[in-house]
Amino acid sequence: MDDRLEKLEADARKLVEDYVATSPYELNPNSKHVDKIIKSLAKKKRNKGFFYCPCRMLSDDKETDAKIICPCEYHKEEIEKDGICSCDLFVSSDYKPASAV
Ligand code: SF4
Repeated sequence: MDDRLEKLEADARKLVEDYVATSPYELNPNSKHVDKIIKSLAKKKRNKGFFYCPCRMLSDDKETDAKIICPCEYHKEEIEKDGICSCDLFVSSDYKPASAV
């Protein structure tokens, strides 16, 4: 892996860890999935300039796309409804993975 991507992955990890430290949410207990999303966020930053949501399409309109910089504008509603955000990165504090129910 190139040094820049490695640094961006560390930045993405800090971003999501700082967010869970200051929000009511937690990281998905599936750490492999979290690692995958962090890698995807780092690639978005490298290729597109921001930590854009890995599971949403960019519109190429900066104002519209600003809404999908992680943590995106939609995750609170998604977590409230489903217990988990669209990328399965952040979860509610009482989230139970489907297989464990
Ligand atoms: S869906 Fe989740 S991972 Fe994707 S940008 Fe929103 S908060 Fe971040």
